[in-house]
Amino acid sequence: MPIRQLTWGCQFKCGQQWSSKKKDIEKHEESCWKNPLNKSCLTCEHGKEVREGYDCKTGDGGCAYRECNNPNMDNPENFKRNRDDTRDLPWVNCSLWENKKP
Ligand SMILES: [Zn+2]
Repeated sequence: MPIRQLTWGCQFKCGQQWSSKKKDIEKHEESCWKNPLNKSCLTCEHGKEVREGYDCKTGDGGCAYRECNNPNMDNPENFKRNRDDTRDLPWVNCSLWENKKP
């Protein structure tokens, strides 16, 4: 007979975090990129994810990177990441953050 186990998940539905320990998830939510309190690109009106298709000839692509569409962003080049850079992390606590419109 299988057992039923209770699992806790992130309330911001980032899809990344699941645990049987509620404390683990509460800790995660404090720094979750989808938590609007953290003012990250993921919850910002100006944050944009660019997805590139996989190129079967060169083996390139199949990656995603972020761009900032805010005209007041003074260094938008920072958002144009190298395609090989897999550490494409969104910015957090951005001073130009605006809540994403539904
Ligand atoms: Zn989360």
